[in-house]
Amino acid sequence: MPTIVKLEKKKQKKRVYKKPETPEEGGYDVYATPMWRRMRLAYLMEHPLCEICLAAKRVTPAVDVHHKNSFNQYSGSKRYSVAYDSNNLMALCRWHHTRLHLGNKQPKYFDLDEYKSSHPEEFDIKK
Ligand SMILES: [Zn+2]
Ligand SMILES: [Zn+2]
Repeated sequence: MPTIVKLEKKKQKKRVYKKPETPEEGGYDVYATPMWRRMRLAYLMEHPLCEICLAAKRVTPAVDVHHKNSFNQYSGSKRYSVAYDSNNLMALCRWHHTRLHLGNKQPKYFDLDEYKSSHPEEFDIKK
């Protein structure tokens, strides 16, 4: 008796969006506030261009506002004072913002000089 071998379709692993356990985990507590929306808009109006591109003498519209010092490393009131400190913000293009958060590694602190020396190809710096 012939056996029919059913080829099971390889179960495709669906990329499941992991819902943050707490509002803090996704930064939702910081971003879903009128306070943040106002700050973000005000910052983008003052800094309409990506600040890293600008340092490399390129003109790219900024679409994201990044925290140089990540508020995720703090809790309580320190977290909010870091999150809502306009001196801690940076206007970035999507490409640079993605690049900074690459590999799910949240940079603890962004330093432009450090970034320049680790990405010389973007700045035409001769090694
Ligand atoms: Zn950029
Ligand atoms: Zn960011």
